[in-house]
Amino acid sequence: MTEQDLISAVIRPEIRALTAYKVADATGYIKLDAMENPYTWPEEIKAEWLNIVHDAAINRYPDPEAKALCRILKEYNQIPAESEILLGNGSDEIIQLLLMALPADATVMAPEPSFVMYKQIAQCLGLNYQGLPLLANNFELDLAVTLATIKSQQPEIIFLAYPNNPTGNLFDSDAIEQIIQHSNGLVILDEAYAPFTDFSFIGKLAQYNNLLVMRTVSKLGLAGLRLGFIAGSPALINELNKARLPYNINILTQCSAEFALSHPELFAEQTQTICLERARVFLQLSTIKGMTPCPSAANFILFRTPKDKATDIFNALKEQGILIKNLSPQQGLLTDCLRVTIGKPEENNAFINALKECI
Ligand SMILES: *Cc1c(COP(=O)(O)O)cnc(C)c1O
Repeated sequence: MTEQDLISAVIRPEIRALTAYKVADATGYIKLDAMENPYTWPEEIKAEWLNIVHDAAINRYPDPEAKALCRILKEYNQIPAESEILLGNGSDEIIQLLLMALPADATVMAPEPSFVMYKQIAQCLGLNYQGLPLLANNFELDLAVTLATIKSQQPEIIFLAYPNNPTGNLFDSDAIEQIIQHSNGLVILDEAYAPFTDFSFIGKLAQYNNLLVMRTVSKLGLAGLRLGFIAGSPALINELNKARLPYNINILTQCSAEFALSHPELFAEQTQTICLERARVFLQLSTIKGMTPCPSAANFILFRTPKDKATDIFNALKEQGILIKNLSPQQGLLTDCLRVTIGKPEENNAFINALKECI
């Protein structure tokens, strides 16, 4: 049997048709491509953290339910007492877990453009995926079309990133509530960028039994730990918990996240600085000829470049040592679009200056 025959025999066709999620090698670049918090911790905080890691029982399996961490996460995120949470190895794992729990012929919906993993994982699992096109002028939900598509296709699950990635906007909250009300399936509000906005659906959890709110510590400043959670009704969380691998949150993540989240002032200051820089980068971008930044409630800004210039500008920035994200190859509404993550003031200045050099 040839290797290709072997692969065809044992790997499902929908997986063979996929391309792996590629991450650019950022070695040596000013890294403004992945929505990371650019700041680390003061030395004395790092020293305290090392003491905790020193005492971690890495010879033992971790607490399978991560009870202490769940308590801290619920408090830090003001999860209502009536809701339960489930933890994932990043919120990516929670998306996978949600989709694995669906019937084999289920339909998954998400706006387009949005976070690519919804579609990627749905297709990987052989589920039906249906994109919901956003409006071209402002990346808002097209409510009439969305409600009609929900009515005709009855999706088991809808993902709404709030704020949306890669566009940065918050969808109209009344439109979201109508989607929740008109859905017979689950509606997942993916609040990965919660640290950079005051808007949230956590306060609506008690009102809708088909609403779940997902968050992550990645964009807050702990991307290396791989930790996300989803909050919803205890009965639903209980079912999802059966599909979760027992020790999915390792002991170093558990003890490090418990430690980090018990220092909320650290993150409050960092995220506040990032939000101030977001406003400054937006203004600067809008003064550069040909660049049109989109208003953002997240820690990145999507901007439109002159027609057919996005890839040239992306490459020219790279040559100047700055890595951002080129979204133009995704086409559709993202044609001519680049996305920059907000970094430290000096990194943002380097980006703006390099961009001015490109035009
Ligand atoms: C970054 C991101 C995630 C993934 O977060 P992890 O917890 O790091 O897996 C999920 N959803 C959206 C919208 C994101 O932008």
